[in-house]
Amino acid sequence: MNDLPIDEEEILKELDAIQSEDLKYSGGRILGSMCTEAHPFAKKVYTKFLDSNLGDPGLFKGTKATEDKTIQIIGKLLNLDKAYGNIVTGGTEANIMAIRAARNHARNYKGIKDGEIILPRSAHFSFKKAADMMNLKIVEADLDDNYKIDVDSIKKKITDKTVAIVAIAGTTELGLIDPIEEISKIAYENNIFFHVDAAFGGFSIPFLKNIGYEYPEFDFKLDGVSSITVDPHKMGLAPIPAGGIIFRKKEYLEVMAVDSPYLTVKTQSTIVGTRLGASTVATYALLKYFGKSGYSKMARELMENTYFLRDSLKEIGYEVIVEPELNIVAFNHPEKSPEKLSDELEKINGWKVSVANCPKAIRIVLMNHVTKTHLKEFLNDLKSLY
Ligand SMILES: *Cc1c(COP(=O)(O)O)cnc(C)c1O
Repeated sequence: MNDLPIDEEEILKELDAIQSEDLKYSGGRILGSMCTEAHPFAKKVYTKFLDSNLGDPGLFKGTKATEDKTIQIIGKLLNLDKAYGNIVTGGTEANIMAIRAARNHARNYKGIKDGEIILPRSAHFSFKKAADMMNLKIVEADLDDNYKIDVDSIKKKITDKTVAIVAIAGTTELGLIDPIEEISKIAYENNIFFHVDAAFGGFSIPFLKNIGYEYPEFDFKLDGVSSITVDPHKMGLAPIPAGGIIFRKKEYLEVMAVDSPYLTVKTQSTIVGTRLGASTVATYALLKYFGKSGYSKMARELMENTYFLRDSLKEIGYEVIVEPELNIVAFNHPEKSPEKLSDELEKINGWKVSVANCPKAIRIVLMNHVTKTHLKEFLNDLKSLY
């Protein structure tokens, strides 16, 4: 650390240099991220609320009320009349809260001690963190030939220690939607907490349905669904970090509550203590700013880019691994491994793609910063590498 203060100007110069080492979404080279540049209006709102601490809601009543309103709006979008939950740092924290609620509920009401959670191999790695922190055993559900949960395998894996079942609406690697309606029935009949991870799909499936796309039911319309994760900082265009966790019942927040003696409220159910209100208010502002029609229009554009990429890849001769359901395309070169192709793409023009594990493939996430022009450049390079 320097002894004497340094001039703002000088520090800013250093920060510019630091920033120039980071990639920018607007460059169009980031093709494997589920995040994107936050909307300019959201950035404005964010800086306005930088000091609002949702960890002490008695001091920031306006911001707290806005979090509640945001949860209600998202809840309604997911077909829940009265929602309970929080805007948190992202899908990871939301999933950890869901599993914590399920674990505590099963412990308090069923006396389950060494609990198990059933989830597919396609689940996000945040559930490994959750299981580790909460001493739960992960029981892996099988996938069918289309990389979706095999419903029968869930039935077989339920035991008297099962505290939660997890399914995904928009898998991280392939953007696929599990057979949630069938799983919801099983969870309901067996009285087991059922969490739907819609971190990726939550901000697009409802809007695409709104304009006539056909998707199976995945939300609180299904009686068995206990909680849903939705990430505003993906297709919601909110500034990071913004994730959402929505619970069907208040008791799921209550089983996580601990006393918070020195604060303005008596208990706290979130994992984080001091937590930012800025991204919550930015999320609220964006929901109003775009409305259903604005988000639907964006979701449609992302799907059109997705179909454009899928069709063009096939024309060149690449193998598209699965029919895209949301804005992710996974593909392979007929001979080169995805790792090799990924290296070549980086060398030829700085493309940052990601490699999926199950199945092994190049995975492109068609986020809002990826334009048709970027895709055409990308396809040209793919043609030359074919
Ligand atoms: C992105 C994602 C997560 C993790 O979200 P973070 O915001 O990165 O913590 C969890 N589950 C799914 C399905 C995701 O797509």
